[in-house]
Formats: sequence, structure tokens, C-alpha cells
Amino acid sequence: MEEEGAAADVDSLPRGAFRCRLCHVTVANQPSLDDHLRGKKHQRLENLRSVRQSQELRSIFVSGFQKGTTALELSSYFETYGNVINVVMDKDKGVYAIVELQDEEILQKVLAEPQHSLGGQKLRVKPREKKDFRYTPPKKQGSARREQLSPEKLAQNICQVDDVDAQMSLMVQLFEFSESEQRLRDLLVKLFQEVFSEFFPESVILPFGSSVNGFSVSGCDLDLFLDLEKTKNFQASAKTTDKPLAEEEATEMESRSEDSILSDIDLVTATVPEILDLVATVLQKCVPGVHHVQVVSTARRPVVKFCHKESGLRGDISINNKLALCNTRFLQFCTEADERVRPLVYAVRYWAKQQGLAGNLFGGGPLLNNYALTLLVFFFLQTRSPPVLPTVAQLKDLSDDGELTVVDGWDCTFPKDPASLQPSGNTESCCSLLAEFFRVFESYNFASGVISLRESRSLPLSDFLLSDAGQKFKMGPVNLQDPFELSHNVAANVNEKTALRLQRSCQDAAKYCRSLQYQRKSSKGKNWGLVRLFQPGSPQAAERQVILLPLMPATQSLGSHSELHPSRDFPQLWFRRVCAGVSFILQHVLKCSCSENSQGLGDDRESLSSDPEEEEQLNTRTEQLSVGSKRPPDVEDAELGSPPAKKPRTECSLPEAESVTWDCTAWHRVWLGRRRVRRQISSPETDPKRTADPLELEGKVSEAISQQERQTRPVDPLFGFTVCAMIRDGGSGEHDPQVSLNFTPHPEQGAVFQDFFHFLQGFLPRMVEQYLTTKPSDRHIPEDKSSIGDDI
Ligand code: ATP
Ligand code: MG
Repeated sequence: MEEEGAAADVDSLPRGAFRCRLCHVTVANQPSLDDHLRGKKHQRLENLRSVRQSQELRSIFVSGFQKGTTALELSSYFETYGNVINVVMDKDKGVYAIVELQDEEILQKVLAEPQHSLGGQKLRVKPREKKDFRYTPPKKQGSARREQLSPEKLAQNICQVDDVDAQMSLMVQLFEFSESEQRLRDLLVKLFQEVFSEFFPESVILPFGSSVNGFSVSGCDLDLFLDLEKTKNFQASAKTTDKPLAEEEATEMESRSEDSILSDIDLVTATVPEILDLVATVLQKCVPGVHHVQVVSTARRPVVKFCHKESGLRGDISINNKLALCNTRFLQFCTEADERVRPLVYAVRYWAKQQGLAGNLFGGGPLLNNYALTLLVFFFLQTRSPPVLPTVAQLKDLSDDGELTVVDGWDCTFPKDPASLQPSGNTESCCSLLAEFFRVFESYNFASGVISLRESRSLPLSDFLLSDAGQKFKMGPVNLQDPFELSHNVAANVNEKTALRLQRSCQDAAKYCRSLQYQRKSSKGKNWGLVRLFQPGSPQAAERQVILLPLMPATQSLGSHSELHPSRDFPQLWFRRVCAGVSFILQHVLKCSCSENSQGLGDDRESLSSDPEEEEQLNTRTEQLSVGSKRPPDVEDAELGSPPAKKPRTECSLPEAESVTWDCTAWHRVWLGRRRVRRQISSPETDPKRTADPLELEGKVSEAISQQERQTRPVDPLFGFTVCAMIRDGGSGEHDPQVSLNFTPHPEQGAVFQDFFHFLQGFLPRMVEQYLTTKPSDRHIPEDKSSIGDDI
């Protein structure tokens, strides 16, 4: 009997090996299997399983009691039917409890009772769901919480192989989910499904996006769609009294509806935010290990965001995003249609991330998102000669008659099975396709037409606007039509600046791909092929310089409150503070003129800010600082006869975007001889009212140096430069989010700019840290959020 049970847990593997599914153990042969089955671990897990199963058979799921009801009260109530062994409350002690009774007989008595009530509240009582027993092996360090692959590790690995094609396929292997990550995600989806089925009968939870579309990257977000269609029908039928339901059926529906949270809401008439609020409540209170739950109802597709504590996985749940399920299947279809698709998309996505052009940084901003970027690669593959991928219109023709799929009114028809496609006649290697991708887009006129994957061509704006879909289409500097939702520009959030950078980065990359360093492995062990392409900035733009700053000051690092992570949870707020700091240091401490080159306020606002509170602050923003001066600010102040403002406004003017650029002019060599001047200024003899504020002191140092210089040379600009600030997602592994500052000198500024930049590398991070810790945020960090910062 026992052996029979054990056999059910064992799978035969090739070459005489076996795997015990219960214990997740693989053994080489029959004798080892026998040892394992007799061994302690297997015996212990078998026991545990039978205990759990018997507990399940004796347990009930109870809800409907008053918040604050204790386990003891519930236990005493059910004691009237027989012995209660245990009561497990949900983590917030208010929504449900599992009550374990002594035996099934008592359980039957409890269930036979038509009405239970406690403290005046009607209780909902039903048998506990039966779950398959699953043993989760103890976590090895780093198995659930994934190590993100650092650029250095990636470089080390891909430099070893022989050619660029091999580098690209190795990249896919290094980035895609490991078996354990895949398992973790599957388990999470199952967990969500179980919990949501309790509260929304017949609902279905479906993963989409990069977890399932063939472009998984360890640590990417978990996009989930909660399909409530059947739940709505279920609720509607339960409510229809005049429908001639069999009496039994009607009673059953009634009781299931009663059992669920559905009794509190009418899904047909409720608004999306109302339903999302409910989803958020269920997530927060009833899904173990889920925290940081937040409804974002202002996004184009409203979602509930969450984080899974143990694994650090972040995710979204949406309820009205069926098109995304469909385009996810389409992406997956294309990966299966040609084996070059995955390596190419992985390489382009990583390149774009490294260049700060694309990525899903906190769900918004003026960058291309990974979906849009992938469509751009598909479009490129459609336009090769011969094509690597067919057009979407051709795919529709290839699908069997009667296979028409319409989602939200859009034709989403394409064949189910990629095997039905003729193999492409195109024989280009991945290496050359990548180089060609950059060559095509380095001079592509994105703004002059609309890229259509349906037809594999750029539709002229004039023709396009004549169509119904065209009239709703949000035109921008990059126009990329969704393959199914034809009125949707998937790149509508991209602003001029990003479009320009995209083009420039493609130029740099195309140039590099023409070199031997790209095409041939270095025999001297130098970086070659993809490695140099992936260096931040670009191999051809060595003059661009980067300083990385933490998104929040080190002095406010986490400490013991590991659940709180303001820089991750309110990144836009901290980004604004850092930008305000940078702008303050450049202007008021180093006496540069800076004019903010604002972009993006006209962008797709809905998708820019993912945080409704941030959005609200955004709306309350009334002032904007932009010192567009072509002369030193102090000179200007003096001439205008107005003293400098007591409290300079230095918050940047682009709070909702994730990049900010300043055009700056440096007037004096304020980096020379600072220590001497500082000593003079801070000695009590020179300045009896010595300032304790380091920022003020540093400003005085710059002012003194400038004054000395003014005596020896005319006040002309020393050099010009631009600074572009962006958030860099730290991922869930290596480091926290950072702000990267890209400095680009105006042409011909070489040596003097280099001196300045070297000085800034040490000076700026210290000063920004000082700014963040000592300058209170006057407007942008709301009280409740800043108190989180204070707390930690
Ligand atoms: P990753 O999360 O790794 O950046 P992703 O493909 O999951 O990649 P998300 O931004 O998380 O990208 O979006 C999830 C899915 O939602 C996409 O795969 C796509 O199916 C859909 N999607 C995202 N953005 C758009 C958009 N602008 N228009 C239409 N569908 C979109
Ligand atoms: Mg995603």
C-alpha cells in the first residue's frame, strides 16, 4: 500500500534514473530510489502530506465576521458543534479564518447549519479548498531572490565565445528565467488564482508580458490579468430571480455568491477603480507574502501594483487588458516563427537599456517601453528582403477560416500554430541583422509616417489620418502603430529628446558594428562584439561622461525597516529631489547658468506618472525654475539691482518625466584652489559670522574664486555643456535605483571641460547628498511620504 503511494510520486527518467516529485530529488538508479523512499526525508514529507490532507478534510473557511474578532471567539463559537483543533486567522485578522475541527463528522454538522452568526454578524462558512500538497525545498541563497546579471559578468561570459551569433544566443540563456524562477512565478500565479477564486468565483488569473512572451529576463515584473467575465455572468445569474433555474442550482449559486466578497459589489455597474480597490484589498489582506499594494487608476490601463516580499518580485494586476493577452501571444508566436527573433530582441533590449533609451522604469517616462521596442524589431524583420517575419495582414490570411479573433472590437486574428508558416527564405545571421537594425534606424524618419506592422510599411500621415483609427491616434516624434489596436501609438509617450537620442545611439551603434571590433573576437583578450555595444553611453561617444548618484541619500538608508524603501516606492519624488539638488549645486554653489530644457509636459500624461499621489502633487505645481541666463547669475542679479531670492526655487520643472536636461554655461574655474579659499573663508578672523551650512560655504568659495578671476579676465563663458539626468533602475538585485547624470560638453571644449568634470565626480555626489539631507523639500514630498524617509 505504502509502496503504491510512493510509486505515484516517482517519475522514470532516461537512463534508469528517477525523480521523486514529492521531495524534488533525482536519483541515478532503482537501489538509490529505494533508499530514498525509505529515507528520513521522504518519510517525513509523506507524513506531512497526510497530516495536511486530513487537516483539509476537517477544516472550514469562515468569513463575514467583524474586524477584530479573535481566534478564541471563533473557536468558542464552533466549539458548540464539537472540538476545535486550531484557528488560523488571515494576517490582518479581519477577513477570513481557517477553522480546523476535530473530525469530519463535526464538519458536516457545522455545514448542515443553514445560518451561522457571531456578534450579530452573519458568517459565511464553507469547506476549505482542497490543494495539492507541494513541498517547497529550503531556499538556497539567491534562488528565489534572483541575482541580476551585472554588465561585468555579462561581458566576462560573452567575451569567451567565438562569434557574435554565439554571444547573442548565450545572452538569451543568461537572461531568461532559470528553472527555479519559472517555478516561483508559476507558484505565485497559482496562489493568486486560489485566493481570487475564493473571492471572485470563476475568475481566472492569466500571466502576460515578459513572463510568458518569450522575452523573460530574470527579475522582470509579473504582469497579471484578472478575468472577471465569468464572475460577472455568475453574479448576474445569481441575481436574476425570474430566470427559471432549477431550485438546487439557484440555491447553490446564491450560497456561493453569499460566500464571496461579491455580495458587496455589482461587477457590472462598478467602475474600474472600484473593482481595483477590491482587488487591492484581497491582495493586501489575503495573499500571503504580498505587500506594497497600490492602486494606480490614472494609468492608460489601470492596475494594482504589488510586491512579493520573499522573492522581491514586483507585479501588476489589471482587469481590462485583454488586448495585452493577445499581443503577448503574438510576441510569443513571432519568437517561435523564427529562431533569430529572440537573440535579436534580447540584444536590442539590452543595448537600449544600457543607452537609457528604453526599459520599463517605474512604469512611465519618455522612454520606449520594451513592448514598443520589440515591435520595432519585428517591423525591421518584416522589412528585410526576403522578410524574416510576415506582415500581420499576411498572418491573418494564413489563419484558418472561421478562426477570426476580435478583442475589444479589434481584429486580432493570426494563426495559433507558428509551425503553419513557411520558413523564411532570409539567411542573414543574427550578427548582421543586429548591425542592419542600427543602420536602418540611424536615419529613419520616425515622425513623417506611422510604422505599421499590419502592412510592414510606413503609412503616410495624411492617408493615415483619413481613417477612423488614424483620427484617434496620438501622433508624436515616434509613431508606431499597435498591430491590433490600430488607433494606439505604442510610442506615444516618447518625446523629441528620446527620439533624437534613439537616432544618435543608432548612428553610434551602426558605426561601431562596421568595425572589426564588433565582427571579430579579440585575440588579445580585449572587449569585442556585443560587449562594447553594451557599454553605457556608446563606444563612439566617449566624450559623454556619466556620474551616478544614489536616488536617496546614504544617511537615510534602510536600517532595520526592510519593508520600507522610499527610493523604490516613490522614485519620482526622490528623482525630483535629486534633480533639484543637482540644479541647485550647479547654479548656486558652482555659479553656472543653467536653463532647463523641459520636454514632455505635453506627453501622454496618463502613462507618465504611475503614482496617483505624485500625479496630484504634479497638478499642484505652480512654479517653475529656469534660469535661462546667458550671463552669470550673480552678475545679472547685481545689474538688475535685485538681491538674490532668499530661498531659491530649485525644484526641476519636469517632475513626471524620468529625464531632465539642463543646458549649462560655466563662467569661472571654480574648481581651482578651492581648499585655500575655503580655509580663508571659514577662518573666524575672515568671517566672524561663519556659516555652518556647507552648501552656503561652498557657494561662497565659488563666489570668491569668480571674483578673483573677474579681476584678471573679462567675463566670458568658459564653456558650455548639457547634463541629462535619468533614473536607472537598480533591478531587484545588485543595487538600488540610481540617477545617472550624462554630461556632454559642447563641441571643442575638450581639456577645460575634462578638468571640470573630474572635479565634479568627487564634488557633486557629496554636495547632492548634503542637499538631500539638509534642505527640506518644500513642496514635492508629501508629509506622509517624507515621514517614511525620516523614519528610516
Ligand atoms: P518588461 O516587463 O520585461 O519590461 P513586458 O513586455 O512585460 O517587458 P510591460 O511594460 O511589463 O512589458 O508590459 C506588459 C505587456 O503589456 C506587454 O508585453 C504588452 O503585451 C502589453 N503592453 C505594454 N505596453 C503596451 C502598449 N503601449 N500598448 C499595448 N500593449 C502594451
Ligand atoms: Mg512586464
